[in-house]
Order: sequence, then C-alpha cells, then structure tokens
Amino acid sequence: MQQRPESWQPPFCPNPNCRYHTVTGTPWPFKKAGYFRRQLAPNRIRRFRCRECGRCFSTQTYSVTYWMKKPGILPEVWRQTTSCAANRQVAHNLRVAPDTIDRAISRLGRHSLLAHVALWRQLPPVGPVTIDGLETFEWSQFFPFHANVAVEVESGFFSFFTDSELRRKGRMTPWQRKRREELEVKLGRPDPRAVRRGISELLGVILATVPEAVVRSDDHPAYRDPVRRNRCRIRHEVTSSRRRRDGDNALFEANLLDLWIRHGSANHKRETIAWSKRRQRAMERLAIVLVDRNYLRSRWKKRGGPTPGMLRGVVGRRLSVEDVLEARLFPGRIELPSAWDRYYRGEVDTQALAVNRRHRLKYGF
Ligand SMILES: [Zn+2]
Repeated sequence: MQQRPESWQPPFCPNPNCRYHTVTGTPWPFKKAGYFRRQLAPNRIRRFRCRECGRCFSTQTYSVTYWMKKPGILPEVWRQTTSCAANRQVAHNLRVAPDTIDRAISRLGRHSLLAHVALWRQLPPVGPVTIDGLETFEWSQFFPFHANVAVEVESGFFSFFTDSELRRKGRMTPWQRKRREELEVKLGRPDPRAVRRGISELLGVILATVPEAVVRSDDHPAYRDPVRRNRCRIRHEVTSSRRRRDGDNALFEANLLDLWIRHGSANHKRETIAWSKRRQRAMERLAIVLVDRNYLRSRWKKRGGPTPGMLRGVVGRRLSVEDVLEARLFPGRIELPSAWDRYYRGEVDTQALAVNRRHRLKYGF
C-alpha cells in the first residue's frame, strides 16, 4: 500500500521459475531499469530487471495491489466483507463496479490463504481440537455443502478448513424432490464420500506432525472412519448434535465459530439473497474470515483483548488490515496444503455451471 522509499531493494526475483525466487536474505543479481509512469499517485514507479532470468518487474510487483486500477479499495473491501456486507453492497458503498469487488475479494481470499499458512506454519495443536461441518449451499438450495472447520479449544484458534459437497436432504415438497432428481440425472449425484474425504484432509493437515491428539466432534457418522484411519493416535470425544448448545457444551468453540461466520459473512446468513453462487468464492471469503478471526479480532468481547493467534502463540501482537496487506505473498514461496492449493487456483467446480473460471493469470498469480 505505502510508497516504497527510493533506497528499497527487491528481496527476491518475482519469477517463480527463476532460481532467485526462493532466496531470502542473500543478495541476488538485479539491476535498476528506469521508471514507468501511471495515472495514480505515486505516478513514478521504479523498475528493475533480473540478471539471471531477464524478467522485468517493479516496486509494484511486491504489492498486494499489483496490477489493480483501484488499489486504494482493498482495506475497505476487507473491512466490509468481514462485517456482513454482500459483494454488491460493498460495490455500492465504494462506488465501483460489482465485478471489481468480486475480483478484489478473490484476491484477498488468495492472499489470506497464503498469509495464514505463512504465520501458522502448521504448528501442532495445543490441547483438544474441535471439528465441525458448517452447512451452507452454493448456486441454489439444491447444492448444499459443508465447510469443514477445525478450531483449537483453548485459544479459539481457527486453524484450517476444507469443503465437502452434500446431497440435498430434509423436508422437500414433491416439486423439490422431482427437481432434485432431474438435477441428479443431469449433473450426477454428489459424492457420498465427500464428507469423509474433506474431514480426512482436514485432520491430515492439522495433525500432520503430532503423534497423538484429542479431537472433539458431533456424532456425524462420516467422521468415524477418517478419525480412525488417521496416522496420528486420536482420542475422539463425541457429543450428540442434539445436546443443548450452550457454554458448557464440549463443542462450544465450534458452535461459536459457526455463529461468528454467519454473523460476519453475508453469504452464510440464513434467509439471505447474498448466498455464494460458487463454492470456490465461499472458500475465498472463508479464508478472509479465518485471518480476520485469528489475527485481527479479540477472542472475547473485551476491547483490545488478545486475538486467538496471540493466545495460540502464533503472533506476538494484534495485526491490522494494513499489516496483513503490507506485501504481496507469492504461492511459489509458501507451500499450501493441497486443499488450499485448489482454492488458490480456483479449482472448486460448481456443478450447475457449464463454465468454471480458474485463476490462471501469468504474472498476477
Ligand atoms: Zn529472476
């Protein structure tokens, strides 16, 4: 966001195929290559060239606003997105086109995936972890899915999430039943093992480096198999989903997170017209919520209180939106777990759509 001083030096080559892309701290061969002018202040942007691979780049290449025509909107998009504004409302408030906001949120989502992994470094959980499936839908109520979330009980730290498509169930009118059948003939039935796979992936990431752990969940039958098969020895504490959801409930942290997500995200409100049309976009928004929850917000209502990230010992202080957006993060320098790599590339397909756009930019990846 801020202007870089004249003496600023690029820390590594932005070209992911260059051997100097992953260097840190050591000098690497680049040279200054003049300036380019742009319409926004600062109008003069310093350019460089890598002597190794020949790629040209500028100070802007290292900014989260790289290639944006309205770079100033990002912090405000962040704040409004996490305060339950729908995309089009944000566009109206900021006086820009709705498409601009859609793209800005995707950019913030991708950035959040990298930012969280870079800060968290997949540290093993401290104390029990609660896992849960937040039920929501994409496109229409015929396409429900679970956002599988993991939250650490002692700190409220929201460590990871995956997604699982579901088959529409529950009470349906005869017309809805018929429509579901038509859609399933046309698009195929959702994978009945999707929850198992999503939970297995979730546990694989959060328990990657520990020999044993305590995992709490409700009595969803699809959780048993992945818990048993995980390479880590898991003590599974099951609480009936019919049990009263108050502060004494063993799944309190997951219930609280569910409320927090629905309270702050327009796409997860009940009876809304702002639901996500694509699961891919819901995952991007959830990544923003995760970073916001862990690093920007107090764990409890008290003003200025510690954030879950501080309680967890991942960061030493509360971060601001500007801190999070201080520099562009590169996927070639931060290794994402495979579920999140799919989100980064935009590979979560919405079955009802004939065309699902991927994130395929060459320089802006
Ligand atoms: Zn290079």
